[in-house]
Amino acid sequence: MNNFSIGIDIGGTNTDIGLVDINGRVIGRHRISTQTFTNKESYVAAMCEGIRTLMQAHEISHIASIGIGAPNSNFFEGCIEAGTTNLPIKERIPLKEMMEKVFNVNVVVDNDANAAAYGEMIYGGGRGMRHLITITLGTGVGSGIIVDGRLVHGHTGTAGELGHCIVMPHGRPCGCGRRGCIETYASAQGICQNHIEAAEEARRPLSVAEREALTCQQVGEAARHGDPIACRAYEITAQWLGIALANAANFSAPEAIFLMGGPTRAGEALMTPLRKTFEENLLFLYQNKISVRLSELNGNDAAILGAAALGHISL
Ligand SMILES: [Zn+2]
Repeated sequence: MNNFSIGIDIGGTNTDIGLVDINGRVIGRHRISTQTFTNKESYVAAMCEGIRTLMQAHEISHIASIGIGAPNSNFFEGCIEAGTTNLPIKERIPLKEMMEKVFNVNVVVDNDANAAAYGEMIYGGGRGMRHLITITLGTGVGSGIIVDGRLVHGHTGTAGELGHCIVMPHGRPCGCGRRGCIETYASAQGICQNHIEAAEEARRPLSVAEREALTCQQVGEAARHGDPIACRAYEITAQWLGIALANAANFSAPEAIFLMGGPTRAGEALMTPLRKTFEENLLFLYQNKISVRLSELNGNDAAILGAAALGHISL
């Protein structure tokens, strides 16, 4: 049994390669700049070189698998689709095919949200669970759904877009072109908007300059220190997110729902009202049976661990 796997987190700026041991520790890292590459051959060659460098540095002769978290990826075909907006390479990149030829191990490619869910199950708080959902709060609201130990990809390969559950008909406009998606209330920008509304509610409206300078990180920090307006902003977030998660529970009855991403650093300012709204809106069949928890994957290593976990999927 081989105890080491590789996790690769592909981002528009950097590509991070990690060597992960069987206990879910990232024991080595290698970073390449994604923007340097304009064709798939040189990019994949650099990734393979990075893997070899890590293996040599840790005196490892074999790895068990390679998992890759990437934007605009196609799980079924093991590739990044052509025309990916935030990558400099615009051609289709058949990562699975190209890297399996080099290393002769299982290579699995999936999106970041699915990688996060699988990582939680293999290395995080979801160890031993077979049914779980992860929600990533950030620029958007991402989700990964695991049913019976398997990621749900659906007929189209793109299943798991809980961020675009509509919680408010005719509500705030969403980047997807529709209105009232949970993403517009629980993403970083949505939380800032909640803060602006909470300030108006408290008759202490923010000036235009204050609105423009507001960041979700500030709201989160203020909430952690008990600022009543910031706490109210997180309560509004929790109100809508709790409803969306209670609806999601009807679909797959998970054992737990894990939250991760920058806005979750607000901690109990988010989690306490979220658990309350979630429980209040749950169908009786699920009440007191589903825990809502913070991710247990270490923040800095989460993306690499998630990617490495994907390599455990046999296709
Ligand atoms: Zn949407």
